[in-house]
Amino acid sequence: RTVYLNGDYLPETEAKVSIFDRGFIMADAVYEVTSVIDSKLVDFAGHMARLERSLGELGIAKPLTTDEWLAVHRALIEKNEIADGAVYLQVTRGNGGDRDFVYPPSDTAPTVVAYTWQKPLLVDNPDAQRGWTVISLPDIRWHRRDIKTVQLLYPSMAKMEAKAKGADDAWLVEDGTVTEGTSNNVYIVKNGRIITRELSKDILHGITRAAVLRFAAEAQMEVEERPFTIAEAQAADEAFATSASSFVMPVVSIDGTPVGTGKPGPVARRLREIYVEESRKAAI
Ligand code: PLP
Repeated sequence: RTVYLNGDYLPETEAKVSIFDRGFIMADAVYEVTSVIDSKLVDFAGHMARLERSLGELGIAKPLTTDEWLAVHRALIEKNEIADGAVYLQVTRGNGGDRDFVYPPSDTAPTVVAYTWQKPLLVDNPDAQRGWTVISLPDIRWHRRDIKTVQLLYPSMAKMEAKAKGADDAWLVEDGTVTEGTSNNVYIVKNGRIITRELSKDILHGITRAAVLRFAAEAQMEVEERPFTIAEAQAADEAFATSASSFVMPVVSIDGTPVGTGKPGPVARRLREIYVEESRKAAI
């Protein structure tokens, strides 16, 4: 693969970052994953707007303009001949010298890394036909989940625990209600109404979430933004999750209890279809 590092396009084996980089030492870094369909970027403007917000919240300098980000993404798609897949972008606070809790001087150059991966079954994902099973786990992450940082150890541990129990993902629970999945926003459907947690610092403000809620409103579906419990989700007609890499993913069981019929439900299936169709049209 050809990857991007600080202005250069390099073979992946030649892209090297300092061991003093704060992304490595302190997880002092933010990232975005933008899906690619038909060699085009899905929800690109939303992902770049969130990246800039994440950088701003952490006081990391904004290294490139939106047009430059677009050029980097497009160059990587072209150089790596990506049809369906994703572009991963990470910005760290850069080389901070010897380990120090104090940030390096504000003129320290951020480290910018980007690379692509192929995912041929992105649209026709067999998981979406089958639906995911999930387990619930406590949400013990920090309280600024609205910032998309690379501090992903707990979500990774939760994913491992889900897999060890034969499930596909974990839904995280705090103070009795579900916050989000390990790497997705979550929803239930009851009597035709879509229920999802409202935006706050408790969850990542999903770019796919924003698009799906807009499509739901356009299709005259009712949406209620509020927290829900695992028991309410288990008693719902349907459940699903959204993210840039899974689009709309039906969830068919929670802690071993089937949701609704135990098969992907009509609302999730319909929203997935609309999302794929509209994203394909709007991709740049
Ligand atoms: N919530 C978390 C914790 C995530 O990590 C992600 C995506 O990686 C999402 C939600 C979904 O966000 P998006 O739709 O922007 O991919």
